[in-house]
Amino acid sequence: MLIDTHCHINMMVKTAFDTMLTEVEVEHAQAIIHQAAERHVKTIINVGTSLPESLNCVALAKRYEPVFAAVGLHPNDCTATWHDDLRELEALVRNKEQNKIVAIGECGLDMHYPDYNLARQKDAFKAQIELALEHDLALIVHTRDAADETVRALEEYKGQLKRGVIHCFSEGIPFADFTLEMGFAFGIGGAITYPKNNQLRDVVKHVPLSSLILETDAPFLPPQVIRGKQNSPAQIATVAEYVAELLGVSVEQVSATTTKRAEQLFMLPR
Ligand SMILES: [Zn+2]
Repeated sequence: MLIDTHCHINMMVKTAFDTMLTEVEVEHAQAIIHQAAERHVKTIINVGTSLPESLNCVALAKRYEPVFAAVGLHPNDCTATWHDDLRELEALVRNKEQNKIVAIGECGLDMHYPDYNLARQKDAFKAQIELALEHDLALIVHTRDAADETVRALEEYKGQLKRGVIHCFSEGIPFADFTLEMGFAFGIGGAITYPKNNQLRDVVKHVPLSSLILETDAPFLPPQVIRGKQNSPAQIATVAEYVAELLGVSVEQVSATTTKRAEQLFMLPR
């Protein structure tokens, strides 16, 4: 049994960001969930990036039994009114069982595009870390071209914040060691299959298998075998096979170990 710990089904079934899913689009999600189940992906965590997308994630989680939600504000989606959005997310989190919310995220820091507002990103990140702690939820961290800043932000919570994942891990060994020190997991997806990505393969060989969880980030980052096409949660099986081959262990071992870690991290029902 496999788990896709990070995807965006809402963005697979509609074309515009930050619009509410229609009933027809919600129904389209069923085929995606079904195809994933056929490749043994039995649980899917659908991750929010803004207030509307987080609401969509909750709607899909409530509708489909295998789906759980993460709610959060992506650093690139932090507008000047992020405080208001966060207050609304907090209202959702107060009913976390009913809304099937298992994590806060994705949140973090992103210095990739030149017009970022780092001060605002840091404030929003910190507020979301505290929200996760307050409500005993896992934290899904997005970091892009911001490794040092992310380390500084997380270090303040070392020992206190234990349930977290560095989503789409794309840093080198020093950041990997920091991730282990924090007690965080590594989110590993299709990027590991890319021919040029020796850095990530080195990291995966360097850290314990029990620190890995699998994710697709669908519809983004398709594995090499379907590069150029839309990614989907079913591709977790492709990632599991690749990791097994890379580490010289069985697919069953990769499945069992990463699934166990994901169940613990997100406190998923067994
Ligand atoms: Zn994502």
